[in-house]
Amino acid sequence: MTIQARQMLVPSSKYTIKCPYAMTAEYITFHNTANDASANNEISYMRNNNATVSYHFAVDDKEVVQGLPTNRNAWHCGDGDHGTGNRKSIGVEVCYSKSGGERYRKAEALAIKFIAQLLKERGWGVERVKKHQEWSGKYCPHRVLDEGRWDEVKTAIATELKALGGKSTTPTKPTTSSPSSSSAVSGSLKSKVDGLRFYSKPSWEDKDVVGTVNKGIGFPTVVEKVKVGSAYQYKVKNSKGATYYITASDKYVDVTGSVKS
Ligand SMILES: [Zn+2]
Repeated sequence: MTIQARQMLVPSSKYTIKCPYAMTAEYITFHNTANDASANNEISYMRNNNATVSYHFAVDDKEVVQGLPTNRNAWHCGDGDHGTGNRKSIGVEVCYSKSGGERYRKAEALAIKFIAQLLKERGWGVERVKKHQEWSGKYCPHRVLDEGRWDEVKTAIATELKALGGKSTTPTKPTTSSPSSSSAVSGSLKSKVDGLRFYSKPSWEDKDVVGTVNKGIGFPTVVEKVKVGSAYQYKVKNSKGATYYITASDKYVDVTGSVKS
């Protein structure tokens, strides 16, 4: 049976805030809301505020609510303006993760079925499903991670997908950021684009944005490079020795100097 998402779309007058770019999605990102609001309330809240935080779907124990069209980007991955998560993935928030319990279990079960349906519609395999953590290192979906169940969730999606007659693929172990993949760097970093954001914290969110650098500008010192999904998180210092963080793929930054692994 097809799951119908109930649409409660952000008005187009808010596209510049919530979903400024056209998108051809390549991935689905799985989140936990980290609160106890219903899907209806999650989407209403997102629609009504003016924060540059947005996602396509919220799922609770009863329904799937859609807040953005899937051909527009959303700000849900914390991997920056040019990040693959923010620019190429459909965001699915699973509700009631703060307290957990029966209604979270049901919400997660519905989300698993719904994500399998999105994959089937697109002819995708389960390898297209990423957890938020894979894009930016943020500890999300927190409840799934706390319970050590990410592989189980992916397997459940793969099983649903198979039942729908979709592409059958063995879930692959996702690549995640881990301290073991960090390297010490002595070099400098330059932005290849205008408006590259830098942050006060490694696991950053919009509230942690410190500023932006334009093309050709950067930081004299890079002290650490950590693989985060398809990008790297750089720990950098300015000329006064203050520390910041930038997450970007090689397309957006030039790092010169030596990397000691
Ligand atoms: Zn998340």
